[in-house]
Amino acid sequence: MFGAMKHVAVVALVLVMAAGCGVQDETVPTTSAGPVETAAATSVPTPATTATTSLPPTTTITTRAPTGDGPLNAIEDGIGDPYYPELGNSGYDVAHYTLDLVFDPESDILTGNVTIDAVATSDLHTFNLDFIGFEIEEVLVDASIADFARTEEELTIRPGTVIPQGESFDVSVFYSGTPQPLASAAISFGVGWSTSPSGQRYVVAEPDGARSWYPANDHPLDKATYTFLVTVPDPLFAAANGTLTDMVTDLGQTTFVWEMADPMAPYLATVVIGDYTLVVDEVSTDLAGVPVRNVLPPDLRDAVPDAVLRQGEMIDFFAELFGPYPFDAYGIAVVDGFPAALETQTMVVFGRPLLNELVIVHELAHQWFGNHVSPGRWQDIWLNEGFASYAEWLWIEASLGIEGVAVGITQERDRFVGSGLAPPGSPPPDDLFNASVYRIGAMTLHALRLSVGDEAFFDTLRTYVARFGGGTATTDDFIAVAEEVSGQDLDALFEAWLFGDDVPEFPVG
Ligand SMILES: [Zn+2]
Repeated sequence: MFGAMKHVAVVALVLVMAAGCGVQDETVPTTSAGPVETAAATSVPTPATTATTSLPPTTTITTRAPTGDGPLNAIEDGIGDPYYPELGNSGYDVAHYTLDLVFDPESDILTGNVTIDAVATSDLHTFNLDFIGFEIEEVLVDASIADFARTEEELTIRPGTVIPQGESFDVSVFYSGTPQPLASAAISFGVGWSTSPSGQRYVVAEPDGARSWYPANDHPLDKATYTFLVTVPDPLFAAANGTLTDMVTDLGQTTFVWEMADPMAPYLATVVIGDYTLVVDEVSTDLAGVPVRNVLPPDLRDAVPDAVLRQGEMIDFFAELFGPYPFDAYGIAVVDGFPAALETQTMVVFGRPLLNELVIVHELAHQWFGNHVSPGRWQDIWLNEGFASYAEWLWIEASLGIEGVAVGITQERDRFVGSGLAPPGSPPPDDLFNASVYRIGAMTLHALRLSVGDEAFFDTLRTYVARFGGGTATTDDFIAVAEEVSGQDLDALFEAWLFGDDVPEFPVG
């Protein structure tokens, strides 16, 4: 994320801009008439249709014991995050989400059919999903109607029969209502489904807003793959994470099908709806080795900003330092008025006011740090923000050299001395994205680099990404990799920088 933190003065740096970047825009049509059978297959089914067309093998049901039919009370649950104990759930592991969503901007009604494929990690008499708002019409478990009950934040589901540990099951939740952002436990502005001043819809859900628009196991510890089927009236465009695999137009509306084939934390799922065009950046695609495509409003489509056109060069640059770019595609979706940006996996939701080179670098670096390797607990958010902020310094270094960075980062360190901010390793739970996790987090990495030298430092970053990519890591995991790679005892360095009362001096490199 960028832009939620308290304002801090930023070192003024003149970046040497590469000249001569061209781009060939390839505009993907926003509508296409798909074959009839495809349209039928991707239209939103009614609950009754789903229930009658996808019954599971009867053996699955007959081998299970009934769960009982007494009153069901919703129970509070959580996956065990010390900062936000209500987030996430235990008892199952999600493999895949299918978000089949119909949105009507006129009525502001979102109609959802979300199917979750999961594996039980214990015998399940009941289980919970995180979900806030909406009217729930029906819940199906393995295509059979299931009882459910709700609190403000939890949806408790009782399948008709006990789901044994180790067994796969699917749960479908049919719901509708007007989506809106919710008050986050971690930051001072609403997270989740939002509306821009010009009427675009977008989702930025870090850290706890996924549950504001779809039922989820809302914690990075349970990453999963995703399919999005987003139906909107023509001529609107709907973007989501991953690759656009199909567009089906029927009766004046189009269903956009997006596939996220790599594991993704629930907070990184997004949908962006508006008067947009998907613009493929061919030059960046060549440099990056993966499709670079941006979702742009009309004025930017016709005049793509220079900094946006450097994303392929940036991917190539960071792949050298961090390891191969971890996903199948990359790009940004620009939203009017939004005063921040969020690194939503492969499709960054980018507030137009922040559309500048260093924020573009920051969000790209999150694809490795935050998205591919996600925080195992929210206290360790510096593993996202400190690393993305240090990536800004690395990009600056490419232009100004290490001497320029040394001067700038030392000046910045001096400004943070005596700031009174909590150290980056233990940020306040109600102010998670404060400047310390970004800037002192970045300084922590610079201190590590000065201590162990460039070779061990970048080897540490690549080893950490390779080892924990696709999953999660904690601060202790990172420290262990740094010690393993460097052969040094680094406890004192990390203790001082991540948990000390004030900002330490940089080691003499
Ligand atoms: Zn960030």
